[in-house]
Amino acid sequence: MTKAAFDTLLDAVKTLHQAHPALSDFAPWPADLEWADLAARDFPVSDLIQDWTCADFGPEADIHRALQGAAPGAHWLRTYSEAEVGAHFLANYGYIELYGPTGQYRSGQGRGFLAYWGGGLEYDWHVHEAEELYFVLSGSGLFMSEGAETALLKRGATRMHASMQPHALHLPEGPILTYIPWRGNGLDGPPKMGKS
Ligand code: ZN
Repeated sequence: MTKAAFDTLLDAVKTLHQAHPALSDFAPWPADLEWADLAARDFPVSDLIQDWTCADFGPEADIHRALQGAAPGAHWLRTYSEAEVGAHFLANYGYIELYGPTGQYRSGQGRGFLAYWGGGLEYDWHVHEAEELYFVLSGSGLFMSEGAETALLKRGATRMHASMQPHALHLPEGPILTYIPWRGNGLDGPPKMGKS
């Protein structure tokens, strides 16, 4: 059951990735995906996503709903510790590595995350070596990137980050669900808080 739910999710993300120029220009869809048996890990984010009704149509909504189906069996992740971001942040955020070096589907060619942040959170400045594209699937967020205009982005909008370009994300209007492919050096590295 878990794999069937994830195959539906993977297909939905692949459809959007290959159809949207911002995504397909950023990185080709990986051709080496292999299912990995990861243990389900239940963080509060799983229920928050399952309870977030998404009535709209379109490829983004297909991903939103497919993630709700896969959420109970997903290997949810959180990068940061309570000391770094606090208990409230940890209870309202989480992500999965859909594909990548340690993902639900293993790939050495690319890495892609599906990530959620709850309304009111302020994800502080952070950096990572890999280049990154945020694609907003549901909700909205205030995107801050050093050297670029701050912008409130909604479904279908994108924001790219260069290697080690500091960025932050605030959620003044409610939650956000994003698809985040990475590319380049540092593909298997974590982000870290701070501006360098
Ligand atoms: Zn980032």
